[in-house]
Parts: sequence; C-alpha cells; structure tokens
Amino acid sequence: MGQECGLFIGGHWETPAGAKRFSTINPTNREAVGSFVAGTPADVDRAVAAAAKAFPAWKEMPAPERGAILLEAARRFTQRKEELARIVTREMGKIISEARGDVQESIDFIEYMAGEGRRLAGETIPSELRAKFCLTVRQPKGVVACITPWNFPTAIPNWKMAAALITGNTVVFKPASNTALCGAEVVRTWEQAGLPPGVMNFVTGSGSVVGDALVADPRVRTVSFTGGVEAGRDVYVRGAQGLKMVHLELGGKNPVILMEDADLSLALDGVLFGAFGTSGQRCTATSRLILHEKVHDEFLGMLLERLQRFPVGDPLDPATGMGPVASADQEEKILAYIALGKKEAKLRSGGEKLRGGAYDRGFFIAPTIFETRHGTRISKEEIFGPVLSVLRVRDYAEAVRVANDVDYGLSSSIYTRDVNRAFQAIQDLEAGITYINAPTIGAEVQLPFGGIKNTGNGGREAGSVAIEEFTEIKSVFVDFSSKLQKAQIDTHPGG
Ligand code: NAD
Repeated sequence: MGQECGLFIGGHWETPAGAKRFSTINPTNREAVGSFVAGTPADVDRAVAAAAKAFPAWKEMPAPERGAILLEAARRFTQRKEELARIVTREMGKIISEARGDVQESIDFIEYMAGEGRRLAGETIPSELRAKFCLTVRQPKGVVACITPWNFPTAIPNWKMAAALITGNTVVFKPASNTALCGAEVVRTWEQAGLPPGVMNFVTGSGSVVGDALVADPRVRTVSFTGGVEAGRDVYVRGAQGLKMVHLELGGKNPVILMEDADLSLALDGVLFGAFGTSGQRCTATSRLILHEKVHDEFLGMLLERLQRFPVGDPLDPATGMGPVASADQEEKILAYIALGKKEAKLRSGGEKLRGGAYDRGFFIAPTIFETRHGTRISKEEIFGPVLSVLRVRDYAEAVRVANDVDYGLSSSIYTRDVNRAFQAIQDLEAGITYINAPTIGAEVQLPFGGIKNTGNGGREAGSVAIEEFTEIKSVFVDFSSKLQKAQIDTHPGG
C-alpha cells in the first residue's frame, strides 16, 4: 500500500472517518508508493474554512516576518533535498539529477520570494492637487487555491505557494493524484518550517471532485492552476461564475529552429535534453525540431546516431538519460500518438514501448523521432512524451511561420551564429519564452515564466511579477490641505 497520508487541515494531519483512499505507484516498477484520502467537497469546505480563519493573522504579520518563515522553509527543503528528489523519482519517474533540479527550483524560488517580503513595493505617484500625497499598496487576496500537475511535483506547488504566502494569502493545495506523496512531503516541509496552522492546507483527490469544489467555493478568491488546456478552460469558465482571478499555465508545442549557421554539436546536446529530458513531459519540452534544409540531413543523421546510444532505464541510475513516462495513462496516450504518427509521418527512431527485463515492470517508451511535414497532428498537438517531430524548412521566414503556426506559445528556441537573426527571432517568435543557442527548457526562477495563445491567460509565474496574481492594488489619497479639494474640477476651474 505504500506510505499512508492524510489531509492537512488547520495544522493537523487527519483521515476523515470512512474516507475512501487511492494509491500512487512507481512508474519504473509499478510498486506502491503511497495511499491517500480521496477528498470530498466536505473536506474542501473544512480546508477552505481553515484557510479563511488563518487569513487575518497571516495578513497582519509583517511581510519580512513571513519572509523569515519562507527562508526557514528553503533551509528545510535544502536539508531534505536528496530525500525529496528520491521521492520525486520514485513517484513520477524523472531521472534523479532532474528530480534534484525539481527540488532545487523549489529552494531557489522560495528564497527569491522570501526577499520579496522586504520589497512588496507599491508606487508613489504625484497628485494633481496641492498638499495631497498619492500612493499604492499591495494587499493579499485571501484564500488561494493551488491546483497542480505531476510533472514538477515539488517545484510547481512551491512556485505558486511561495508567491501566495509571502503576499499574505492563505492556501489550499490540491496536488495531481499520481504525485500526491510529493505533495504531502512539500506540505510537511512547510509545516516543519513553522508555518502557522491553517495557512497551508492540503486536500488530495480528483480534479472533478476536489478541484471542482475549490473552484466553486466563494471564499476562494484566486485559483492558480497548472495543467492541460481542457481542464484549464473548464476551471476558467467555472471560476468566471464567481468572478475569481484564475491564473492558468497550460500546455506547449515548443520549437527549436536550427539555422544553416548553427553550431550543430552544441545543438545536438540541447535538442536531446530538450526533447527527452523528463521523458518529454515538460510543458517546455522541445517537441518540434525545425531544420533549415542545408543542415537537415546532417543534423538528423547526428541525432539518430546519438539516439542509438541514449540510455533509457532506471531513473535512479546516474548513467540513465531517460526514465519511464509517469503513468499508465501517459503511456497509453503517448503510444496512441505514436500509432497516429506512424500513419501520417515517417518514423525515424523508436516508436515503441520498450520490452524485456526491467522494462516490463514499468512504463518505458523509446525516444521517438518522426520526420514529418508541418500540419500533421503530431506536429501540432501536445503529446507530452518523448516524441520529437522533425520538420524541414527552406529559410528563416518559413521556419518562423512553422514555429508560430500552432495553438500554443510557451517556449521557443533558435540556434544561429548570426546576431541579427537572433534578435529578429526574439521579435518574431510567438512565445512567452525564447532561448538563443539553448534548448526550450531551463527556466530560471528570477525570470517570469508563462506563455501566450492557448498556453495561458496572460499571467506569469516566477520572477518578481509572480506576486501580481496574488495581490490587489489599493490606491491611497492622503489630503493634508485641511480643505476639500476636487480633482479635475479645482485643477480646471471654469473649463
Ligand atoms: P491535468 O489538466 O490533467 O491536471 C492538472 C491538475 O488539475 C491536477 O491536479 C488535476 O487533478 C486537476 N484537475 C483536472 N481536472 C480538473 C477540473 N475539472 N477542475 C479542477 N481541477 C482539475 O494536467 P496533468 O496531466 O496533470 O499535467 C500535464 C499538463 O500540464 C500538460 O498539458 C502540460 O503542458 C501542463 N503543464 C503546464 C505547465 C506550465 O507552466 N505552462 C507546467 C507543467 C505542466
């Protein structure tokens, strides 16, 4: 059955009487990892009530004091880094070095947000009237729901929660069901850091029950959601009923463009990491490789040759380049796309479930490359697995047209030695993130993260702008003239 976990509500771990449970398994070998409460609307109600009760005191606490708790959390995550990384690998299968990166991203962002406790800046703005002072202050929204996916099971919750907490909000966190132990351990680490009861609450369970109840609850003022477009759209529509702030971080179909002057060996390492890191299950994964015709055959040859030696296997083995995909559902969905790809494109590598020995116990798919034309479904839809579509283009203009002609706009990349073209691409590529001479993955927490088109609805996580979705801006007018002054009227008397 694995490790048994409860809900965390009002500072207590609890298992409601008669609760149904669900389990998570290790995608490498199908062994049980953890057992969790299938939360109900009543559990959500109690968790939101606890968050609402804790809100006034948390809001009153000076932000630098909240920052000190965040710093303590960062220290605790640092102490537990290896232990947590192993849980990440065990529960969702990313290789151990990337799992350490997942936890490190948590640490980096919590530290970064702790500093925000000493900034949280408003503005001072001149008044049009005399003896009058104008400023803005930031105030928390209240109770925030954080609904997260499984692919960065410590980093994404911590990105959301650190920004929500430093700005004075309280939180109810619902993790993806197949990485619920990672979620529970994230919460335990915050608990150890001394977060007051009720400031962070944790309810496990399905999106359609727990997620739905969170979005519907009128006390929840902001929903921060990361996941697929379908669920995101649903959350957006239902959140709109309650006139909530709904922040969405959704899918991607991210291109790397390789121009004729690219450094091919540099690009080779980048494309392999971008396409097959985390078994292609990053929202920023390189899923399209757009090759200038002058380097198409040479680079594809290099890629296919390297793939023959690409080690797929035990994600805890430091020599492994790619582990399993995260779940049976993921495996099924990716294999369906591969079957489709075999019909509409030319398979150049992989294209199968790996079998034999240890592979038979887990969800292993060979890193897969299709040579295809722009417009096929595999070249336009998010597969979220180790499948790369290679597309041939004649020139820069066609490369940009192909890169932009998808529904998503998260990350993008161009390899070129031509500085003018690099800057042109920064201007031309329709995406929230553009890399020059690096793959589409590799976010740093001090920069904003997010995308355009179907990737989101305009917000950004990370960077200093991460606090925007979690704060209301209040405008303040201080009149020290001791008389009634009328804006617009006194400034333009008679006209
Ligand atoms: P998902 O949409 O299936 O689930 C995400 C979360 O939403 C889970 O916790 C799930 O239980 C919950 N949920 C599902 N339906 C819901 C509903 N109707 N109401 C409320 N909550 C609901 O996504 P997933 O499979 O966990 O993650 C993969 C997707 O996430 C991919 O599309 C990927 O691109 C995207 N993603 C985006 C980013 C980003 O920052 N843009 C980062 C990571 C992953």
